[in-house]
Amino acid sequence: MSNIDTLAQLFMKFPGIGTRQARRFVYFLLMQDPRYVDVLASEITALKKNIAQCTGCFRFYPHVDTSTLCGVCIDDADSATLMVVEKDTDLDSVRRSGSYAGRYFILGGTIPVLEKDPASKIRIRELLERIEGSVADGLTEIILAFSVNPEGDFTRDYVIKSLTPLTSQLGIAITTLGRGLSTGTELEYSDGDTLRHALKNRG
Ligand SMILES: [Zn+2]
Repeated sequence: MSNIDTLAQLFMKFPGIGTRQARRFVYFLLMQDPRYVDVLASEITALKKNIAQCTGCFRFYPHVDTSTLCGVCIDDADSATLMVVEKDTDLDSVRRSGSYAGRYFILGGTIPVLEKDPASKIRIRELLERIEGSVADGLTEIILAFSVNPEGDFTRDYVIKSLTPLTSQLGIAITTLGRGLSTGTELEYSDGDTLRHALKNRG
């Protein structure tokens, strides 16, 4: 197999990339200045070395000291609320909107409708542990902030079902952003006003 084939196969592992696109990427690289390719290669190598995954919220962050928590988890955010989002980019959108001052947890995906093993698709066990660990910090509300589409709705229902035995025992409320967002809304692409409105109208 040539380098072209090997690299194309590696690109095919990227989300949403098929054979044809993967090969286009390879030919794109062949056309570039060697310096561009060098920088790209060294940035990829450095990525795993310099970026860590937070043990509190599971977001990826630049690792600077020995702490295993990211800046968002150790700042003075309001620990009474925990917002559960699907992915890193959703957390970034909510932070940018400036409409939420509490803590976060990244679920790591959504559950495809009809999935036989939902627990394998998201960090549900880690979320339960996080909730148990947050009781002492005064956690009173969990906000489920998922995209409004069939997969997001399915995930929301599964998460509520999984958390309820624990949260009702601990007296923690579960709210969702659903009512403030229109159908088809992706959290990642929502503007500040939409997010503020959705948060105000959560229930
Ligand atoms: Zn964190």
